[in-house]
Amino acid sequence: DFSESDTLKRVKPSPTIAVTAKAREMARQGKKVISLGAGEPDFDTPENICDAAIKAIKRGETRYTDVDGIPELKAAIVAKFKRENGLDYKTTQVSVSPGGKPVIYNAFMASLNAGDEVIVPAPYWVSYPDMVLLAGGTPVFAVAGMETGFKLTPETLEAAITPKTKWLILNSPSNPTGAVYTAADLKALGEVLKRHPQVWILTDDMYEHLLFDGMEYATIAQVVPELYDRTLTMNGVSKAYSMTGWRIGYCAGPEPLIKAMSKIISQSTSNACSIAQWAAVEALNGTQDFIAPRADIFQKRRDLVVAMLNNARGITCPTPEGAFYVYPSIAGCIGKTAPSGKIITNDEEFAGELLQTEEVAVVHGAAFGLSPFFRISYATSESVLTEACSRIQRFCASLK
Ligand code: PLP
Repeated sequence: DFSESDTLKRVKPSPTIAVTAKAREMARQGKKVISLGAGEPDFDTPENICDAAIKAIKRGETRYTDVDGIPELKAAIVAKFKRENGLDYKTTQVSVSPGGKPVIYNAFMASLNAGDEVIVPAPYWVSYPDMVLLAGGTPVFAVAGMETGFKLTPETLEAAITPKTKWLILNSPSNPTGAVYTAADLKALGEVLKRHPQVWILTDDMYEHLLFDGMEYATIAQVVPELYDRTLTMNGVSKAYSMTGWRIGYCAGPEPLIKAMSKIISQSTSNACSIAQWAAVEALNGTQDFIAPRADIFQKRRDLVVAMLNNARGITCPTPEGAFYVYPSIAGCIGKTAPSGKIITNDEEFAGELLQTEEVAVVHGAAFGLSPFFRISYATSESVLTEACSRIQRFCASLK
């Protein structure tokens, strides 16, 4: 009989994908489910990017490429880091993989030994702890709660560091909270990190371009240059360019790490899709004009969702500055009784009752390592969001 490997037994499947699957199943049964679980923009990939892919096919760019990316894409990435982040990288410091996910996974596979610790600020993107576990490391959670705007403080970071700490993960704007670290926040964390040379920093900048209220973007290797030699700056085209299905993620960092990752890629996935790589070249080098208007649309949706959720009894919803998620607290709903007669004792039960009663799918906070909260992805139309938030208001009003 089949039995999972010991490594895999330490890992759970992605809870966000599980919620989305459950909502889809209910929809198949004819229910009018609104799914706010998935983390992908609802916009189409811009036309110039699609055209570049079609041209690449017609040119015959359909073969194996260099395992960690074509030179043209690496050059576009180098130019992006210079233009947008003021960071100098050489093409030998750049690596491309089929999505941001494998970039992070490969970085851990390339660097972690048993017993190595990775500091994961909580709430976290669901895949971080499990990728650390898959790579044989140990996730160490550092609470970044609502009181500190869901941002890691220098004190909490200092307390989490041990001689075994290998990596700190930073993610700004954050999935699931939308929190954004300012340059000042990063400098304060940098002061701590400068004292601990064994700690490397993996910064997941995937949501860089989904930024609101005129916030300025900052990434740690830029604002704390002393950390440049132990920072892996990771990014991708999935969210900024609405290219989740194309599967292109990239990173830049110290050459030995990039080389080690390339060894893994060469013995596992090989190159990211050649056609998608050419599309990514156009995404990075072509017009960036659609980014700001799309961010404006997200900001309007954010305002709508935050206002409506703060009008739901028992919910407190902070206003995030980026990404397309809100992470409201349901502390005021705990201990109340749902229409089904069930007493809500945690956020998983809240999400479960909400799905059964009002057919709105959200992801419970425990999945992201901080309760009692839930996450809404507002990457959908204002009319759907209005309907979903009305249902949530009705559900909260029905709690006794
Ligand atoms: N990092 C964060 C914080 C994300 O939310 C996601 C996608 O949901 C990724 C990385 C992975 O992106 P990709 O689809 O390029 O693998």
